[in-house]
Amino acid sequence: MNKPERFRPPSVDTVLRSANGELAIARHGRAAATDAIRQAIERLRTAGQPAAVPVEQVGRLALDRLEERDRPSQRPVINLTGTVLHTNLGRALLAEEAIEAVVAAMRAPTNLEYVVEAGQRGERDAHVRDLVRELTGAEDAILVNNNASAVLLVLNTLAIGREAIVSRGELIEIGGAFRMPDIMARAGATLREVGTTNRTHLRDYAEAIGPETGLLMKVHTSNYVVQGFTAEVEPAELAKLARRHDLPFVDDLGSGTLIDLSRWGLRKEKTVQDALKGGADLVTFSGDKLLGGPQAGIVAGRKDLIAKLAKNPLKRALRLDKLRLAALEATLRLYRDPDRLAQRLPTLRLFTRTAADLRALAERLQPTASTAIGSDWIVEIIDCASQIGSGALPLETLPSAGLGLRPAGKAAGSAVETLAAAFRAVPVPVIGRIAQGALVFDLRCLEDEALFVRQLDALKPETPDALA
Ligand SMILES: *Cc1c(COP(=O)(O)O)cnc(C)c1O
Repeated sequence: MNKPERFRPPSVDTVLRSANGELAIARHGRAAATDAIRQAIERLRTAGQPAAVPVEQVGRLALDRLEERDRPSQRPVINLTGTVLHTNLGRALLAEEAIEAVVAAMRAPTNLEYVVEAGQRGERDAHVRDLVRELTGAEDAILVNNNASAVLLVLNTLAIGREAIVSRGELIEIGGAFRMPDIMARAGATLREVGTTNRTHLRDYAEAIGPETGLLMKVHTSNYVVQGFTAEVEPAELAKLARRHDLPFVDDLGSGTLIDLSRWGLRKEKTVQDALKGGADLVTFSGDKLLGGPQAGIVAGRKDLIAKLAKNPLKRALRLDKLRLAALEATLRLYRDPDRLAQRLPTLRLFTRTAADLRALAERLQPTASTAIGSDWIVEIIDCASQIGSGALPLETLPSAGLGLRPAGKAAGSAVETLAAAFRAVPVPVIGRIAQGALVFDLRCLEDEALFVRQLDALKPETPDALA
């Protein structure tokens, strides 16, 4: 047996002068290119490479590493999970109008806190406040970082050192460690639970009211439903009780929609207007759930109470920046024209896609997908049930269609996981879900068909390349 020839690497300078070397310098700078080439040579040496490695290949290795390093950490993915408002995938997509408003606000100074006509200092929330008032009928409004912040600010302002009365059936936990009791504690309020998990009556609230009471609160049970032998108190009743005792009544809507969704065949969810008409003194809701805007928390309601929130020093810590205010303003403006809302607001557009359209899409994509993943797999067109997500309408599903990918013959138990991982490894990761031994792609959120097809082209079986 011949002893392998000693590895003779090209010089770093030779690689720098090669086409890939020059590309690496142009894109990443000479220092980074030099480092990366040195490291590539080192890797080849330890991998026990044959004596001569083409200069271009060394350059390629270095360039690939540099590109990988520079890839943004947060990047686009294709959401085929079937959950439209997916918290882990960034919730609502912004309307083009909102995107343009954000870009404009990024590129130039704005009148964020400046009244142009008067030449005087202004207030940042003013840009959105009047729109919220117009659309909801609220007297006033204030904007913060998200709805968790909105709840925190309300409790810390109106119930610090006092009790907040909430039904035991409404002590919610939302993904990402938002637990109502914990928020209350951090806000400096004492939680006063009333009633039982399944039944709470007006008298439970009435009996809990005392000199320590700061407010009465109703929390939308966003992500679950209590069924069976249940009783909850109508908000209007709670509002009356609160008024009798001169206490604020706060309704945390969570998702908070501004329009009756039944107009588009979805189930009607209580709107912000409904909550205010129902007697809530303050309503809190999110910007990036059903509303379809940027992450934000909106408090709408009584002017005197909003004024108190505005004076709380926490408001300064929770305030919105100019980008999100710009996005929120542009998003809310779309609500003035409900007829075109379903085309312009991506969230609503995705909710309203029909199962028939999605099935047609599945039929178009099925042959391409089938060819791309090869004969070891069966690609079926399947019915799906999409979810709204983000704790809105937890039991409501939208009839949808998609692709189910399952092994053609007997395959290792992990085959589906491996395929799912391969789909996550393409340039724009495709995120599906695994159900009953198949990788399921619900197509509701797929609007860019060509982008998905390009990912299919990029789908490779595991690359056994030791150099990669
Ligand atoms: C989602 C939700 C929150 C938290 O809202 P974020 O905008 O995610 O901070 C609070 N309360 C309810 C009822 C919710 O559904």
